[in-house]
Amino acid sequence: MTHAPANPAVLDAVRRVWGFDSLRPLQAEAVDAALANRDALIVLPTGGGKSLCYQTPPLVANELSVVVSPLISLMKDQVDGLVLNGYPAVALHSACTDAERDDAHAALNTGDARLLFVSPERLLSNGFLDWLAGLPQPSGRRGVRRFAIDEAHCISQWGHDFRPEYRQLATLRRRFPDACVHALTATATPRVRDDIVTQLGLADPAILVGVFDRPNLTYRVVPRVNRDAQILEVLARHKDEASIIYCISRRETEAIAAMLTDRAHKARAYHAGLDPERRRKVQEAFSREKLDVVVATVAFGMGIDRSNVRCVLHASMPKSVEAYQQETGRAGRDGLEAECVLLYSGADGAMWSKLMARSAEESGATPESLDAQLRLLAEVQRYASGMNCRHKSLSEHFGQSYPFPNCNACDICLNEIDQAEDSTVIAQKIISCVARAQQRSGMTFGAAHITDILRGSKSQKLLDRGHDQLSTYALLAETPKPTITSYINQLLDQGLLHRADGEYPTLTLSPASREVLTGKREVKLLRPKEPARRERAGRPGAPQIDLSPDEAALFDALRALRREIAEERAVPPYVVFSDATLRELAAVRPSTPDAMTRVKGIGAAKLAAFGEQFLDRLLDHARRLGLDLDTQPTTTTAPPKPAPGAPKRISPAKARSFDHFDRGESVEATARAVGLSPRTIVAHLADWIEDRRPESIEPWIARADYDRIAAAAREVGADFLKPIFEHLSAEIDYDRICIAVAHLRAHAAG
Ligand code: ADP
Ligand code: ZN
Repeated sequence: MTHAPANPAVLDAVRRVWGFDSLRPLQAEAVDAALANRDALIVLPTGGGKSLCYQTPPLVANELSVVVSPLISLMKDQVDGLVLNGYPAVALHSACTDAERDDAHAALNTGDARLLFVSPERLLSNGFLDWLAGLPQPSGRRGVRRFAIDEAHCISQWGHDFRPEYRQLATLRRRFPDACVHALTATATPRVRDDIVTQLGLADPAILVGVFDRPNLTYRVVPRVNRDAQILEVLARHKDEASIIYCISRRETEAIAAMLTDRAHKARAYHAGLDPERRRKVQEAFSREKLDVVVATVAFGMGIDRSNVRCVLHASMPKSVEAYQQETGRAGRDGLEAECVLLYSGADGAMWSKLMARSAEESGATPESLDAQLRLLAEVQRYASGMNCRHKSLSEHFGQSYPFPNCNACDICLNEIDQAEDSTVIAQKIISCVARAQQRSGMTFGAAHITDILRGSKSQKLLDRGHDQLSTYALLAETPKPTITSYINQLLDQGLLHRADGEYPTLTLSPASREVLTGKREVKLLRPKEPARRERAGRPGAPQIDLSPDEAALFDALRALRREIAEERAVPPYVVFSDATLRELAAVRPSTPDAMTRVKGIGAAKLAAFGEQFLDRLLDHARRLGLDLDTQPTTTTAPPKPAPGAPKRISPAKARSFDHFDRGESVEATARAVGLSPRTIVAHLADWIEDRRPESIEPWIARADYDRIAAAAREVGADFLKPIFEHLSAEIDYDRICIAVAHLRAHAAG
């Protein structure tokens, strides 16, 4: 699947800086285009890896690239992340401190920086382009030869995020005729694409459009019947993980956040009505993993780069499939599994069209633009009420065919939805109930009241109206309330009932209703089911390393370390290592720095910066949990692991080490004989000591050292190696501490 870049230095740079072993297909083409100085339009879904497209060329060409980005918070995070990778990047925007600005200028004036992030306002400010044109480059040239315009759809008024200042970026083409301009976006509609090319004046651009399907996302559309309970149910599947809940109104975000806070979730509301300081705090807390759930209006997200969001839940329907794709795209950017749930009610469409009409009136928008919005709305309604594979529907919406018959990652393919066998009869009961109630009282009623009648409720309101006398009273007494609500919404979506205009959304008959009542029309209704456990085997895409409970404990320990490091450096945790990297570490458990570099996401700079800390924590926990080192990760299709409590299997390599230790052989001799690194052998030895509990371990450690370590362990505890190491002023190496501590633990355990 990977496309090798034309220049081998590209792959070298990617390996060295990011620790990735390959480029994704379009990344390679984008990098090639940039190095060939050709314009490009790069359309990749959120999480598709756009950043690497503009981050790689400057390293290879040894020249500065300029990235225009509308989002200051995102720039800052990107720069922090790059700097941790040892990548010289700087940013210039209105939120820079004087010191940051001076540092950035210095790095640019000396030609040390490879990437400059800049806001459009700044780029177009007086004299800025002239200054850029004079910057020295290590290659000996002056000026800038590569520009990248991030979030390029902001240039188009057909896009969902139009920013007038983006229009002026066309100047770049004129001012830097020899430079190439790359436009990057996640918005795929052809109209927006064309608009970007024209507005930016791209010349014969390479058009690189990625695959929009996100195989690691599981999509579900759930009839909204009890919003809060449903939200809690979904979040229960994502305990201590990051989730975003999208709402239409600010009031709703506040209410849901309060509800969640009451239920001990770490949740906050986020919307455009909050003051900027407060918004910044929420964003920061979320990206630093101090906050699990953000309940937001669409205002939240563009600046969010937390890659381990495991759940995006829409409390109401979004206003377009594009918006849905964009918002759900924030889940699982690390490529690991994530869930997207849409709580859908037919009422949402009515609510949106009302909002759209009102705002069109207020803004004096043209009737065509309101029509366009309503068309987008109808598409998302079709998606939500549809019965087709969600991955397929979304792919096709973006003009791409979906080749798999079963995605195994949506409510439809997972068979979470049943068709009610007696759908037509149910529909007749509901429709006639609506008709009878209206006849009897001379007014229309809402879905809740109709549901009460059908279920045979004894509510006072119902009895007062004499609705217990209706022939449809208690006709669906056995059917749960949420299910009836869902049926009513489905009838509305199918046009078999209407929602009456007026202050309250009440139900009334449509012409099609009569056809159902007279038996001229068959109806299909879905019976909502509990989400099933996901069957993973045979599912396309999304390789994910499965963790055993012990490995999950190790993963948590590594996450805790990541948080500590992030805190210390005042950066978001994911810029230290991604979840994907930590999972792989927990599954493979490399025993040496060298083995660590084979894990995805560990480049040279990060290895130097954090390798030892992570290795330490990893070895220590792996040993205490009795986990083998240097294993192959178990992927989703591998045979199940032995149940907890089953006797621990030891690997053949370890068994051989044990034989050598039984004969009292040294670590070095054993390492040579077994062909593993001394570090691994030390870990084997520690296991052997805990297993065999020898009286003396003097073949492996001098008595004097052992005594010092034992004394230190009495002072600082034997849970971790590092405090002992530090207590001994680094005079005794980790290997010996590890061996001695194993002995101390073996004997402490009785
Ligand atoms: P986008 O900007 O398109 O939303 P990002 O550039 O943030 O996406 O990349 C999304 C995720 O994919 C990041 O966690 C990034 O580290 C990872 N990624 C990008 N390119 C590669 C690659 N070639 N190999 C492995 N992981 C990659
Ligand atoms: Zn599917």
